[in-house]
Amino acid sequence: MNHTKPKFKEKYGNFINGEFVDPIGGQYFENTSPTNNQLIAKYPRSQKEDVEKAIDAANAAKVAWGNTSAAHRASILQKIADVIEENLNEFAAIDTYDNGKAIRETVNADIPLAVDHFRYFASVIRAEEGSATELNENTLSLIIKEPLGVVAQIIPWNFPMLMLAWKVAPALASGNCVVLKPAEQTPSSATFLMEKIGHLLPPGVLNVIHGFGPEAGKPLASSSKVNKVAFTGETTTGQLIMQYASKNLNPVTMELGGKSPNVFFNSVMDHDDEFLDKCIEGAVLFAFNQGEVCTCPSRLLVQEDIYDKFMERVVERTKAIIQGDPFDINTQIGAQASHDQYEKILSYMDIGKEEGAKVLCGGEAFKASGEYADGFYIQPTILEGHNKMRVFQEEIFGPVLAVCKFKDEAEALEIANDTLYGLGAGVWTRDAHQLYQIPRAIKAGRVWVNCYHDYPAHAPFGGYKKSGFGRENHLMMLNHYRQAKNMLISYDKNKLGFF
Ligand code: NAD
Repeated sequence: MNHTKPKFKEKYGNFINGEFVDPIGGQYFENTSPTNNQLIAKYPRSQKEDVEKAIDAANAAKVAWGNTSAAHRASILQKIADVIEENLNEFAAIDTYDNGKAIRETVNADIPLAVDHFRYFASVIRAEEGSATELNENTLSLIIKEPLGVVAQIIPWNFPMLMLAWKVAPALASGNCVVLKPAEQTPSSATFLMEKIGHLLPPGVLNVIHGFGPEAGKPLASSSKVNKVAFTGETTTGQLIMQYASKNLNPVTMELGGKSPNVFFNSVMDHDDEFLDKCIEGAVLFAFNQGEVCTCPSRLLVQEDIYDKFMERVVERTKAIIQGDPFDINTQIGAQASHDQYEKILSYMDIGKEEGAKVLCGGEAFKASGEYADGFYIQPTILEGHNKMRVFQEEIFGPVLAVCKFKDEAEALEIANDTLYGLGAGVWTRDAHQLYQIPRAIKAGRVWVNCYHDYPAHAPFGGYKKSGFGRENHLMMLNHYRQAKNMLISYDKNKLGFF
């Protein structure tokens, strides 16, 4: 299959109450592709009045949608999954052009995972068992899970379709109506989705508004007419969102940043075999998705006895990464998502060098050729240093690996946990003791053991510490989108006898 740049209209609207509408104030912003710095299309620069219109539409739809059967909602979610799957290549090309990521990722990971996410929540919502307990021979306790009502959802740009699926599928499955704000850097796949599936849902059930954080995100998260705010993005933005939501005592879930340790023990080099090859790849996965992953294994910890030999192979593999044309299926990493992001990453290279970190490979921008010459590409970079450096402590969100050595298990744990964040971690070893005890002692919500960057819909995902709270994926997600009503039913004919 030959993947090509998608075609776009000149401008798009918000999707509110079942139709595309212009922004009330008539303002638009220009969305450009980081692959080549060319204009993609104009999207609504929504303001408070647009957000309120979407929230009102969701409120008008919530009772009817909340009363639909789980079977009905599941069938719609299945249809949404089918539509995304039927248009997989278009969705993949759109996210690649909007975000800059390589097409091999959008085709093989982002979009198939989004499809599976809708299918998973369509299935689990029907598989749930009720909960009734006989408290005594005359009294029954019945627990009923009810939708919250209207959910505000705000997502980032690093996995546009997948983050949408992570948010929208469980919310709709639980019977909520949604107002979603995609990131301003990547508005296109959400719009394409509504073009394709808008007719499958009753008007008002799923609304998409575009715009910037302070202008559109803030009124959405602050509204007293929403019942929950679900956010994925930077930790500092998450702190603001919590403040906005707290005025209404609204519950929030927060999926925030990370600085994940990836720990390799001596035993990985005991044999030169397939497993060692997997380990080398596991260390190089910092460059996956241009490093723009909340769980990016951006801190590499290698035990000192194997350090030199292991790093030689990691550097060699990193230098072999194929970079450039994001639409070539062989390209392994594409462009960074925006000019701002590109500048931020390059500035961290300078910070690292000033701090005394040694550049083992990369360290500069990458010059793509031909029509991508004006895009925002950065060489996968490895910086050697120590864990107190800023490049080890701050989220760079780019293909930059900070590497250091450790002596023993105790030091590995000390360094791994010496971070404000607690989202992901990796542990690699052939030792049965280490492969259980070390992950148990790492303070992170997801620890991959002898693997990394796997995100199945049926495994819970979320952060410890400043990486957030609440979980995504897995059926435990449903409880973040519902409230439990307890009906305490008495079959006793006799009065209590107090009065
Ligand atoms: P961001 O916080 O800048 O923006 C995220 C979203 O919030 C965007 O839609 C943006 O418009 C909106 N926003 C910004 N300011 C706002 C405000 N004041 N009020 C309301 N909304 C506002 O994050 P980003 O740069 O788009 O994404 C990168 C970050 O996301 C990284 O820190 C990354 O680690 C994190 N992330 C976390 C996860 C996870 O599951 N934990 C997943 C993906 C990304």
